[in-house]
Amino acid sequence: MADVAELLVADHPPAAGCAAVPAARPVLKERGQREVFCGLTGIVWMHRKIQDAFFLVVGSRTCAHLLQSAAGVMIFAEPRFATAIIDERDLAGLADANAELDRVVARLLERRRDIRLLFLVGSCPSEVIKLDLSRAAQRLDKAFAPNVRVLNYSGSGIETTFTEGEDACLAALVPEMPAGDSPSLLVAGCLADVVEDQFRRLFETLAIPVSFLPPRSSRALPAVGPNTRVLLAQPYLANTMRALERRGATHLPAPFPLGVEGTTAWLAAACDAFEVPRARLDAAIEAPARRAAQAIAAHRPLLAGQRIFFFPDSQLEPPLARFLARECGMRLTEVGTPYLHRAHMQAELDLLPDDVVLSEGQHVDNQLERCRGENPDLVVCGLGLANPLEAQGIATKWAIELVFTPIQGFEAAGDLAGLFARPLDRRARLRV
Ligand code: SF4
Repeated sequence: MADVAELLVADHPPAAGCAAVPAARPVLKERGQREVFCGLTGIVWMHRKIQDAFFLVVGSRTCAHLLQSAAGVMIFAEPRFATAIIDERDLAGLADANAELDRVVARLLERRRDIRLLFLVGSCPSEVIKLDLSRAAQRLDKAFAPNVRVLNYSGSGIETTFTEGEDACLAALVPEMPAGDSPSLLVAGCLADVVEDQFRRLFETLAIPVSFLPPRSSRALPAVGPNTRVLLAQPYLANTMRALERRGATHLPAPFPLGVEGTTAWLAAACDAFEVPRARLDAAIEAPARRAAQAIAAHRPLLAGQRIFFFPDSQLEPPLARFLARECGMRLTEVGTPYLHRAHMQAELDLLPDDVVLSEGQHVDNQLERCRGENPDLVVCGLGLANPLEAQGIATKWAIELVFTPIQGFEAAGDLAGLFARPLDRRARLRV
């Protein structure tokens, strides 16, 4: 893999109709060794969301261990994911992997009559032996129709970082969505049920017809068509959005719903698209926005003025950085992101301070060197980097925790600030 770091200029086009778009922001492009989980990790939060789905990873014992340790505390009697192990015989080409997969799937569906949607999830080993999971899914789909729908996507570490597994999964669902012509809002991206319910109530108050992708049941896939407007709830859904656009839907550019400012702007984008007067939005959010601002203010004394460095892990980094800088008073040093989707991220980039270093892609050694040079108060990074940095006296926050935890919307804004205040508080106490 190329081992280069180049300073390039982001080539994002100005948003249509926005005269105040600042000049292109420089982005440091990194290409080197990566230190992130693979896309299989998304199963840990997605299996709880689509309640009649099952994720069958076609992978190795390593993949099974990753899932078990990531989902550790969540293992229960009838988990909604498993790994079909590709063993040495499969890797050596001695066994018919397709026949074995068919046997495993038949056994699983016989035992688990509650499964309505089965995902065959590709991994590094299934890619290495060139097992065609899309053909396998078509074959099994025919065999088990109409009781079970069988789809596939890849969560392999060769192709995906940990949040891209969700993107691949949702993109696989899009062709299954029924066609619909009615004007409607689609919120795309996994949200905790409690957050989804809060947003649903807000959109109902605003009289905006809304549905969510993924739905809680695979039999309740929302309709999509030329009158569908899409708000992304997560910043890592490039392929999902592309698939929705192919079905005629339109993306609504907006900051992501983190903090008071992000949530307000995100809702405002929907109001603009559905011609809801601003006064109606202001009235609907007055109380929750006030509560959120108060909850954030409680954490501000610990956060204001503290310097934070983001390693690239989840693609959530730019919106988190914007929230921490503008609502919590933190000072940004470097904001890394594994990928920077300029069209989806432009509204966030416009809100970041001019002097922040933005980096895209990974080169762990270079980034560690810059991080140590900055000597920040707090570092957001993967689990693998957290221990060494803590040993060097730098407080850390695990990037993956920000994907598992409900952090979107007004009611979670105080908790989101608290997630960053806690490690600083802990370090301050240790020093005392
Ligand atoms: Fe490891 Fe690849 Fe399996 Fe992910 S898919 S656990 S990176 S072998």
